[in-house]
Amino acid sequence: MPGFLASLGLPGLVDLHVHFLPEQVERKVWAFFDRARQEYGTEWPIRYRLPVPERLAILEKLGVRAFAPLVYPHKPGMAAWLTEWVLDFAARTPGAVPTATLYPEPGVVDYLGEALAAGARCVKSHIQVGGYDPRDPELDPAWGLLAEAGVPVVVHCGHGPLAGRYTGLDVFEQVLARHPRLVAVLAHAGAPDYSGALDLVERYPRVHLDTTMVGVPFNTSGAPLPADWTARLASVADRVALGTDFPNIPYDYATQLRAIADWAAADDRLGRDFLVAVLHDTPRRLLALGEQPGETS
Ligand SMILES: [Zn+2]
Repeated sequence: MPGFLASLGLPGLVDLHVHFLPEQVERKVWAFFDRARQEYGTEWPIRYRLPVPERLAILEKLGVRAFAPLVYPHKPGMAAWLTEWVLDFAARTPGAVPTATLYPEPGVVDYLGEALAAGARCVKSHIQVGGYDPRDPELDPAWGLLAEAGVPVVVHCGHGPLAGRYTGLDVFEQVLARHPRLVAVLAHAGAPDYSGALDLVERYPRVHLDTTMVGVPFNTSGAPLPADWTARLASVADRVALGTDFPNIPYDYATQLRAIADWAAADDRLGRDFLVAVLHDTPRRLLALGEQPGETS
């Protein structure tokens, strides 16, 4: 990894899609992965199931200089508390960028506004796990607040690896149609609807993709990448950001980078510039890093 980064002239990686959760929530998430054979139809041995300090040491060793720890609720009454937890986690963890999450419920605009005021620079919305409709009127002012602030929302709105009642890029596009300035990062590149995700990126100038679990040999999305994947990436190359789902991945971190490097090598229009953009420049821009005095990452 250090050799790979040095060959690109990069000071490090910026990972937009990493998970850290309060211990009792994390235990439940990991128990779900332990039942992966029943839930997903395949084993899912978590590669980095380690105490927090060890996970942080691994990120540092891999060259991850900044990352967005993402939290998400599965029921009402949880998002404000998770947001408070993750803001505190980021404040005491070098490299962690402050984030927030939301849920359609009374008060969502208040706790989201407070989180932005406290420095949150990225928001997570998990539509499958949350089981909510992103078009819920209660969320409308929250999307508006984020669009105005220019704070990105990493939104898991695709049908993979499990479909939810309100997953589907067609559903989320209705949010974008109302809030076309929303900086939305389609998690997992919209898996399994990669072509539909690229359509949204082309249609909305502030929509991005993250690379989380995309193109790796462990594929639960039920769909291969489309044949024109790298060709289409070339026209939106500055709107793709590194994401990994660390630590909850059943393979080495480097596997994700290998997939991205393969895309870069597959099309002359991508190459090194694409890698630098995906692994560093674009997630750094999305997270507004380097804009605070004294910040260098
Ligand atoms: Zn994730």
